[in-house]
Amino acid sequence: MSAVLVCFEPSCRATYSTSEVIYNCPKCGGLLEAQIDYDLEAAKQWKDVWRRRRMSNAPLDQSGVWRYREMLDLFGGGFENVVTLREGNTPLLNAPKAADYAGIDRLVFKHQGFNPTGSFKDNGMTCGVAQAVKLGMKRVACVSTGNTSASMAAYSSAAGLDPIIFIPNGNISYGKLAQALEYGARTLQVEANFDEILALVRVLAERLGIYLLNSINPFRIEGQKSIVIEMLDQRDWSVPDWIVLPGGNLGNTSAFGKALRELLTLGFINKLPKLAVIQAAGSSPFYDYMRQQDRSQFPAVKKPETLATAIKIGDPVSYPKALHEVTTTAGIVEKATEQEIADSKAIIGLCGIGSEPASAATLAGIKKLRAQGVIGASDEVVAVLTGNVLKDPDYIYRYHTGQLDDPHGARIVSTFGNRPIVTPNDADHIARLLGS
Ligand SMILES: *Cc1c(COP(=O)(O)O)cnc(C)c1O
Repeated sequence: MSAVLVCFEPSCRATYSTSEVIYNCPKCGGLLEAQIDYDLEAAKQWKDVWRRRRMSNAPLDQSGVWRYREMLDLFGGGFENVVTLREGNTPLLNAPKAADYAGIDRLVFKHQGFNPTGSFKDNGMTCGVAQAVKLGMKRVACVSTGNTSASMAAYSSAAGLDPIIFIPNGNISYGKLAQALEYGARTLQVEANFDEILALVRVLAERLGIYLLNSINPFRIEGQKSIVIEMLDQRDWSVPDWIVLPGGNLGNTSAFGKALRELLTLGFINKLPKLAVIQAAGSSPFYDYMRQQDRSQFPAVKKPETLATAIKIGDPVSYPKALHEVTTTAGIVEKATEQEIADSKAIIGLCGIGSEPASAATLAGIKKLRAQGVIGASDEVVAVLTGNVLKDPDYIYRYHTGQLDDPHGARIVSTFGNRPIVTPNDADHIARLLGS
């Protein structure tokens, strides 16, 4: 099998070797997409091969990404550049309380927060870093609101590369920043917003020969396909009605749609689930875009605002791909307010599951789409929780103690608040408190 990079613009479709260091189409500036020339005859064996690998002790077989490496055969001969931290392998968790809350019969979460650095970024990063090694790059960089930097720091340090991280000043949760520092990344806090820093870093990457591992990187998108492949493998290839995910830069939306289309081509599934992408109301350009009649202009948001920092993106780079994938799957885009996200997050916590704020947008979105009759009560729904509960503990403490303010300073009601109770060291008092 062989792979090439193809320009995603329908009017261009120029192809390039995977050994070129490019992020956009040099001809038209369009997004690039990897295209693997699949051997459909050989593919008939893959489901069995993938199952057998779960019994193996070989590192690549144990990875929930590289177990599916036939669909990630991007590097031209072998996988010797791959560094795995055993990413993927994330569970499907049944969440009855969350289903009740949303008004549907059953809800299953695929929890990407179980990854080595606590977010789905690991699924893509192991692939992006493998490509950096393959290209012989020594320095790698990304701009990130948090999880990408944590993941890039870990994987590139594990691979012996030098990670450099650019973050918007004062816009990152300590959990994520702490990871980047601990994994040895040089961390530059720049006084500009995400989109401005991205433009800056693209200039620097060119000038200094640094490999860029932002979500525009087509190899990261390829790695993130494994989230959907693993989910369907875990469901014995039974396709749900809906896959629900939060949308920020829309890389994951792009990856999910691509994986689904490829699985359909390979004959592994017989229909496409609908993709439902949920944005935060203060940072919802893709929601607006999908409701516009005229799709020629993307309504970028200059000052995106949400406490769900992982989806605080005003000008998502992957929107053309996301448009294609949401349309192809007959999916939908919804948005959720800060209050809706916060309450949904608490409900996910009450299921014993937990997540970071951006992930909880999924449940808020499902509840709204159910209320509108878009999602049926008996529909099979899998929602993807993108990040770990401990990524943003400050948010959690504030919510439960009634101190969480939205970006405009309005207090968020702690509907499902759970305050710590201060009590004297007195058994009788505590017994009374606990209702003896
Ligand atoms: C990156 C991230 C998102 C947004 O994903 P996109 O691919 O940028 O749309 C959502 N949730 C979490 C926890 C993330 O880390």
